[in-house]
Amino acid sequence: MIRVLIWNEYQHEKSSEEVRRIYPNGIHGALAEILKGEDVSVRTATLDDPGCGITKEVLEDTDVLLWWGHMAHHKVPDEVAYLVRDAVLSGMGAIFLHSAHHSKPFRYLMGTSCNLTWRESQDSELLWVIEPSHPITRGIDRCFRLPAEETYGEPFVIPTPDKLLLIGNYSGGEVFRSGCLYERGNGRIFYFQPGHESFPTYYVPEVQTILRNAVRYVAPTYREMTACPHVRKITDSEPYVID
Ligand code: ZN
Repeated sequence: MIRVLIWNEYQHEKSSEEVRRIYPNGIHGALAEILKGEDVSVRTATLDDPGCGITKEVLEDTDVLLWWGHMAHHKVPDEVAYLVRDAVLSGMGAIFLHSAHHSKPFRYLMGTSCNLTWRESQDSELLWVIEPSHPITRGIDRCFRLPAEETYGEPFVIPTPDKLLLIGNYSGGEVFRSGCLYERGNGRIFYFQPGHESFPTYYVPEVQTILRNAVRYVAPTYREMTACPHVRKITDSEPYVID
């Protein structure tokens, strides 16, 4: 069983009738419906929960954390962001969605500004699969179209991804690294660009397929914070023995 925690800022849905109409149970509610299954259990947490709903213990009980945030990144305490960062370094999988490119946990894991160029102009987007053999893009054709999505453009100030799986191409001309994979410590991280709050992006079947695949791909196979111990030299007279 993969234990998923979906963290959503959950602010736009409360303040905007337009967003609430698209996601009546919040973006986290829609994502939970997509992801829960026989081998996946789902919990949710939001910014307004005490302590953002995130503690060390909660993260220890989490295999994969999804993070959606936009207008209130600054309201997430640094201590919470560091907890997420350290959980990833110890092996927890993490999926950062859309405007979570600017979330504290993502920026602390990347070590860069994660700035990009953006525009809301009803552009459509073609998402091109450039790694068709990868488990995360399994079941996706050469490309798929989002009828409308917020435009994100390069330069996207991230470290060069360990693997780039998808490139977005907008009707306004921009291209964007839309599906980026990283390893940080023992954890796997997937950044996935689609998901602006005022478009029904998370109802698009290909987006759902990629999210389901990504949860399984970033789920940990090893969970341990690699420590920094002082160790004795291994000598010929004291051979190293594996118990
Ligand atoms: Zn957006």
